[in-house]
Amino acid sequence: MSGTELTDLQHQLHHGTLTCVARVEQFLATIESKKHLNAYLSVYGNEALERARVIDTKIKARTAGKLAGLVVGLKDVLAYQNHPLQASSKILDGFVSEFTATAVERLLKEDAIIIGRQNCDEFAMGSSNENSAFGAVLNEIDTTRVPGGSSGGSAVAVMADTCDVALGSDTGGSVRQPAAFCGIYGLKPTYSRISRYGLVAYGSSFDCIGIFSKNLKTLTHVLEVIAGADEFDSTVSHQPVPAYAQAIEQPAGPFKIAYLNEALHSQAVQPEIRQALKTKVEQLQHAGHTVTGIDFPLSEYILPTYYILATAEASSNLSRYDGVRYGYRSPHTTDLQSMYKKTRSEGFGKEVQRRILLGTFVLSASYYDAYYTKAQKVRQLIRQQTQKIFSHYDFILSPTTPTTAFKIGTHSNNPVEMYLADLFSVHANVAGVPAISVPCGTDAQGLPIGLQLTANDFNEAGLFQVSKVIQNLAG
Ligand code: GLN
Repeated sequence: MSGTELTDLQHQLHHGTLTCVARVEQFLATIESKKHLNAYLSVYGNEALERARVIDTKIKARTAGKLAGLVVGLKDVLAYQNHPLQASSKILDGFVSEFTATAVERLLKEDAIIIGRQNCDEFAMGSSNENSAFGAVLNEIDTTRVPGGSSGGSAVAVMADTCDVALGSDTGGSVRQPAAFCGIYGLKPTYSRISRYGLVAYGSSFDCIGIFSKNLKTLTHVLEVIAGADEFDSTVSHQPVPAYAQAIEQPAGPFKIAYLNEALHSQAVQPEIRQALKTKVEQLQHAGHTVTGIDFPLSEYILPTYYILATAEASSNLSRYDGVRYGYRSPHTTDLQSMYKKTRSEGFGKEVQRRILLGTFVLSASYYDAYYTKAQKVRQLIRQQTQKIFSHYDFILSPTTPTTAFKIGTHSNNPVEMYLADLFSVHANVAGVPAISVPCGTDAQGLPIGLQLTANDFNEAGLFQVSKVIQNLAG
């Protein structure tokens, strides 16, 4: 039921063949029956039902907003006033938001219904959702496997039909990678397309709010509502927001698409994913698009650049969790110093501590130039080289992930192995450009495969158009 396109859904709501209340009731029942997946940290049942009643009345009166009836879940990094917010961390135990994130505010203004808060990796650091203080999230297709991360709860929530759409965050792939593992769409827009006000900060120069949906068109409606200028975020773009839902209906193409030679030949990529990419390349060519293999010589530097800069920014952003201002404070303290130390040692999980240590190291006086400054320079190069590709091509096609969903525990003791899950997704964040993961079949075990399309700055409309082309190709 969550795959229904928004306008079809609203058609039924307007004709009274369906009500928001009935939908919310059904979603709540599904959440209950799929509790074992551990996708939700809080379910706002009564509140969602109450809102559904109000919106049903508005629909009858023809005064309902653009997203009337859409049921949305929020990754536990998005502020929603008077609701708990923890970034799946013990350090935010008991913390309640005092304001609402701009993106969420805009959803509410257009009469979307918020159904709950979704599990994720602690502070959005991870690729498997195993780093949550609330336990791992399970992939619905095979519950011995991870759903991807860090927005794993949100991806599973959409996949498992417990909401229509979910908002996640994507700093290095955290929307696209779990979308690929769960067989749904996941969009990371251009950096600054959506206000970050009310998004828990991880790596601020990378952080983007992203959207999960089973339905591509619904995703366009949501982006249209939440994107755009915001007085609360000085880094947000003032570029006008295009009519994405209209753009996706326009005839588009033929396109010029580049694919990464390396992805097609790399042994690190699962053979079935290589095959899926190859098939799409051939189908696109057959359909009249120009599809060419290219090399990206800087590709081996993307992942290290990301992990140096993202950890540096994280170490700074997370310094605010000191036991004084937010959530948890260790009860075992004797003085101020020990309060800081114990609170942070007890409140942060292992991976978050590792990132803070790594980030503090690369920012330390003796290593700053060797790591941080150098990584900043490499980031500029990567961005320039990426822009160069877009002077010749409309999109870059690649796998979203090197493998399909792996078994729980596979990489949890080897952080570098885990970081490799982000091989293809971090590029868009390092370059600041938009990218989408499109479901493209399954491997021999029936696990979803996702292919990724990346576009130049602010060409989300193009991404939607080419995703639709891919969706309509045979197979
Ligand atoms: N897996 C990456 C990381 O751990 C990306 C996370 C994200 O996009 N939030 O940093």
